[in-house]
Amino acid sequence: MNILVINCGSSSLKFQLIDAGTEEMIAKGLCERIGIPGSRLVYTPKDSGKIITEAVMKDHTDAIRMVLDSLTDAKVGVLTSLNEISAVGHRVVHGGEKFASSTVITDDVIAAIEECNALAPLHNPANLIGIQSCRELMPDVPMVAVFDTAFHQTMPEEAYLYGIPYEYYEKHQVRKYGFHGTSHAYVSAQAAKMLNKPYESLKLIVCHLGNGASVSAVKNGKCVDTSMGMTPLEGLIMGTRSGDVDPAVIEYLCKITEKSVGEVLEELNKKSGVLGLSAGFSSDFRDLEDAYLEGEENSVRALNAFTYRVVKYIGSYCAAMGGVDAICFTAGLGENSPFIREKICEYLGFWGIELDHELNVLRGKEVDVTTKESRTRVLVIPTNEELAIARETVALINN
Ligand code: ADP
Repeated sequence: MNILVINCGSSSLKFQLIDAGTEEMIAKGLCERIGIPGSRLVYTPKDSGKIITEAVMKDHTDAIRMVLDSLTDAKVGVLTSLNEISAVGHRVVHGGEKFASSTVITDDVIAAIEECNALAPLHNPANLIGIQSCRELMPDVPMVAVFDTAFHQTMPEEAYLYGIPYEYYEKHQVRKYGFHGTSHAYVSAQAAKMLNKPYESLKLIVCHLGNGASVSAVKNGKCVDTSMGMTPLEGLIMGTRSGDVDPAVIEYLCKITEKSVGEVLEELNKKSGVLGLSAGFSSDFRDLEDAYLEGEENSVRALNAFTYRVVKYIGSYCAAMGGVDAICFTAGLGENSPFIREKICEYLGFWGIELDHELNVLRGKEVDVTTKESRTRVLVIPTNEELAIARETVALINN
């Protein structure tokens, strides 16, 4: 059974075709600059190099048509016909409080996703365009929506409410939702497998550290807290996002810079984080790490602040859960940077956490990077959001 996984942005579209039986990727790719001059498809069938095709894609339907043509192409295709696609799994960013789990897409589901658009105005409309385009081109293929927010819907009220008048929550759903849920769910479930213990018996902290970054607390198989908020701006210091700031800073910045709230928020989203803290040096953690090791002061400042914030969240989630069995690192930085893991774990020595420095440098696979004596495990678990979406899709269409 082959599952096509679609992650649709406003001008881009990522896809993966996954064999649900073997859980192997058969082909993957990316359409860039959809609706903009210079659009192109980067298509990578398994066991072969990238094939780049430049062609006009005036909209997402054009883009998906090109993807389907490539998958079934006589020379470079991996399928003989589209009938070999059993279902499509769509990543949807915001499911609000309407979706606590993935769901088969129907007209009613599309209407409910539309109702969440105000909570994620940049992402949800693009996700919906991808869904509509796929339905147009593959009308008989079942489709499933997998939400970034769904895994976090188990958070208790005390974790998701902001300390603001309650009517804002009741009337306008202003609350913490959390994001990267597919990754947090996948990684925490993998952690239980690695530890060979029932998922429902564990206290886990998952640090998804990429350009966007979030931490979650997963107790007895359920998310009980997470660092991102109503939008992905809250929480950790990220590549370009500020994470937590005193909201009064926004008004103050508007006053002194004569910028609008929208402009200041744009800066908090795109010019802040480690990019802002490094005085514009870089948002890329590799650049920062190299410069840090040479003592470059902007990078030292940015990475110290980044690490400190991660440690604060880990500490608070350990307190909230009454302990922790394992801390899991995932995503671009979490998976690939022994340096950052070491910097974070240095703080945690008082808990009896002890890294094994030889294991900590291993890359690209699941590994427990702590010594036998360490009181708490530290696990590196490569995330695989596409596989998680494919698994959810199979589970739903088999029902
Ligand atoms: P996103 O999906 O949010 O764009 P990723 O999970 O792809 O982000 O992570 C991207 C970040 O991971 C980049 O800042 C990149 O520098 C960092 N990264 C990737 N590989 C390494 C590495 N080997 N060492 C340090 N940082 C890395």
